[in-house]
Amino acid sequence: MKTAKALKRRDGVERFLDVYRDARLLPYSPSDSELMRALERCLGCGTCLAVCPVVGSAASHPYPGPRAVATSLSRSVPEFWTAAGVEGYCTTCLACQEACPGDVPVWRAVLMIRAKNFEQATREGREPLGRLKRFLVDFFAENRLAQAGRWGAALQGLAFRPTASGSMKARLTLPLGPLGNRLVPPLARRPLTEEFSAPVAGADPDGPRVAVFAGCLDNFCYTDTGRSLVEVLRRHAREVVVPATQVCCGAPALYSGDLETTRRLAALNGEVFAATGCDFVVTACATCGDVLTRDYPVLGPDSAAGATWLARRTRDIHVFLASEVELRPPARGPAGRGDLPAPGRTVVTVHDPCHLSRGQGVAEEVRVLLGAVPGAELREMADPRACCGGAGSFCLEHYDIAAAIRRDKIADIAATGAGLVVTGCPSCRLHISDGLEQAGTGRPVRHLVDLLAESYRGGPAGAGGGGDSLG
Ligand code: SF4
Ligand code: SF4
Repeated sequence: MKTAKALKRRDGVERFLDVYRDARLLPYSPSDSELMRALERCLGCGTCLAVCPVVGSAASHPYPGPRAVATSLSRSVPEFWTAAGVEGYCTTCLACQEACPGDVPVWRAVLMIRAKNFEQATREGREPLGRLKRFLVDFFAENRLAQAGRWGAALQGLAFRPTASGSMKARLTLPLGPLGNRLVPPLARRPLTEEFSAPVAGADPDGPRVAVFAGCLDNFCYTDTGRSLVEVLRRHAREVVVPATQVCCGAPALYSGDLETTRRLAALNGEVFAATGCDFVVTACATCGDVLTRDYPVLGPDSAAGATWLARRTRDIHVFLASEVELRPPARGPAGRGDLPAPGRTVVTVHDPCHLSRGQGVAEEVRVLLGAVPGAELREMADPRACCGGAGSFCLEHYDIAAAIRRDKIADIAATGAGLVVTGCPSCRLHISDGLEQAGTGRPVRHLVDLLAESYRGGPAGAGGGGDSLG
């Protein structure tokens, strides 16, 4: 317990720091020093500029690129504040760090700058986020998708029609500028957490007990993937639970600089999942998995011990199936060509989400598991790890840049001739589906668990797939 004298001294220090913060002279705290030292490793070589999707996009934008973030933007105090806003153009794809000879974590610097801008704006009584970002952060943090879904699912069909990709398209162009024709995710009548309100008995009495971290998009929109996840897990576990009181992982808040909201959500999720006492927490969302495993442990003490527990137990579904259990592959036909009905084999290509391949180092597992899906034939893109430009709310705020980044991805998919795209991130699923639709080449975009679940049920890989078919 702190003495009155210690508290008084701390208040004095805080007041002293406030003076500097108000004069915008104090952007860095002692806890930032490790990151600042990492940024000092920058050699100014410019290798990162060649791989940054925003710099390389054909869209016009004011983003100076990762080298500028690593050097002037993050080192000079006046430049730090006057450059506020430019860091919003980073998709946090991690490509620059991967290519950098000094392993400079530019994306961490970007998140730090966003957090400082958020804090400073709040201190000055300004709204720290734009209207759209504020809406999105609150929308996800307050679980408003649950409320929207109840009436939205019923009404959505009046204004939107389903597409081949599993998303929805407006029947008439909406007065939203470039976003007027954009695909939207389908709202589910019942969230996954309600559908699986009771524990599901697993097929393996010796297997682990698994809790599902659904993530907002798979919980409220792409519940087809949520159901597939439960189905696949059930075959590899002794019990599967989908905790009803889980909340958003906090990604929209974290990527907007709102650390307080992120810590609150991390603490809530930590409590909810620790109470399940499960062996593993499994998710089918690349971004949720990345936030839970890599960001929760560094959010600071306010996020509580439960968040650390959750970080240790969380596995992306590809990792869980490839490393934590023995995969029970779907049955194959006698000729080794699978049990698929006509039209036979489906050519599949894989898009590697940034937060799965670079964030969590998961890419090979997806190919290995795809090899277990009867009838699925992998045909790789030239660059399956290239960022698609989705990046959560980035593609809503900067749709023109996101669409320009995506152009190469859509061309890369088309060149494979694949009838089905597999990706481990629902946000990539939506953005790529939109790109395929805009290009007039709509086709299913699914998660690998959808293919596995359909194969277990004896259906074709990625039912409804168009494109090449090797029958
Ligand atoms: S961040 Fe890395 S790749 Fe980019 S200029 Fe600096 S050293 Fe080179
Ligand atoms: S994380 Fe991606 S978008 Fe951001 S600066 Fe690095 S390469 Fe560019």
